[in-house]
Amino acid sequence: MAAHFTRRLEGKVAIITGGASGIGEVAARLFTRHGAKVVIADIQDDLAQKVCENLDPSSITYVHCDVTKEEDLKNVVNTAVSKYGKLDIMYNNAGIVDEIKSNIVDNEKSEFEKVININLIGTFLGIKEAARVMIPRGQGSIISTASVCASIGGVCSHAYTSSKHGVLGLTRNAAVDLGRHGIRVNCVSPYAVLTTMGLDTIKKIGKDSSDVYSNLKGATLTPNDVAEAAVFLASDESKYVSGHDLIVDGGFTVENPGLSMFK
Ligand code: NAD
Repeated sequence: MAAHFTRRLEGKVAIITGGASGIGEVAARLFTRHGAKVVIADIQDDLAQKVCENLDPSSITYVHCDVTKEEDLKNVVNTAVSKYGKLDIMYNNAGIVDEIKSNIVDNEKSEFEKVININLIGTFLGIKEAARVMIPRGQGSIISTASVCASIGGVCSHAYTSSKHGVLGLTRNAAVDLGRHGIRVNCVSPYAVLTTMGLDTIKKIGKDSSDVYSNLKGATLTPNDVAEAAVFLASDESKYVSGHDLIVDGGFTVENPGLSMFK
């Protein structure tokens, strides 16, 4: 007999940036399965349309949105409100990684700015535009995809690590600001996930997927594990959780391999 499935986002309206692929795509599918109306905001139009084609058309919409453009985020938020009547969940998930040049001397300012622009300023604009419509309603849940790179160094590029530390800082500040209006602000921080970006990043550092170390024996992190964490933060089950960084890394960031007594 099939286990009972509880729709934890029934009646809620969500925007997911970067929803055309990877973690965002899986989150879009999972959020609709949990009863949410979802607006995917991305720049990859064909991929996003394909995601929508496989879902109930009454539950999913695609809006072209470059998260670095304030007017695009304004438009996607306005579309969610005009089409579905409100916005309950803003999931700022779009992100990129630059070329990984471990020596900072080789890093270009323009590349650094590009990553900050999408990963951090895009998140700022997403929080700002969502807050605009959530504040009058006195409720809402804002989630951003940060990374293990939000709290430790040495795992990815200088720009990426800086951008994700910024996302965590912004999450905390916005949680304090928007808490005054009943709005929760949190982030989800995955370890390496084998999406297009994850595989590309592993390749850029000269490794392959079999080199990805897991602290948790027998377990591999999937986009669905990250999406499940986002569902928790989006749902009323987390109604008193705000300013939190939900790290999904199997314990990777709590270990210091240099001093580990368990090796
Ligand atoms: P992905 O490349 O599969 O998905 C990223 C999505 O963001 C794509 O659909 C892309 O089109 C979109 N995007 C890029 N620039 C955009 C822009 N300017 N405006 C709108 N959309 C844009 O990668 P993913 O692994 O699913 O990454 C999702 C998030 O998870 C990112 O924020 C990433 O930093 C974070 N993350 C990924 C990993 C990993 O190992 N894959 C680990 C930790 C955190």
